[in-house]
Amino acid sequence: MATQDPNEPQDCSDVLEALYLFIDDEIDVANSRLIRQHLEACAPCLEKYDLEQIVRTLVARSCTERAPVPLRERVLLSIREVQVQISVDERGPGSAF
Ligand SMILES: [Zn+2]
Repeated sequence: MATQDPNEPQDCSDVLEALYLFIDDEIDVANSRLIRQHLEACAPCLEKYDLEQIVRTLVARSCTERAPVPLRERVLLSIREVQVQISVDERGPGSAF
């Protein structure tokens, strides 16, 4: 039977369009319930949602960190650290003897 279920999940494109609002909690309860239902039933949309959540978390974290060191310098610093580690490894314990 092809009766229209009022609780039927929305279209994927509709869900993805509303995903950002859903994540930001800027969507009304009825719609957020529909999206939640759809995410539970639709793996590709859930994947997209997870990915978006991860990105949001990372962005939020780097914003709240208020890092005094700019990202570029931090990257350069970590590259330098790796280079130091490599040169230490190359010398190795053997040269001490
Ligand atoms: Zn979907």
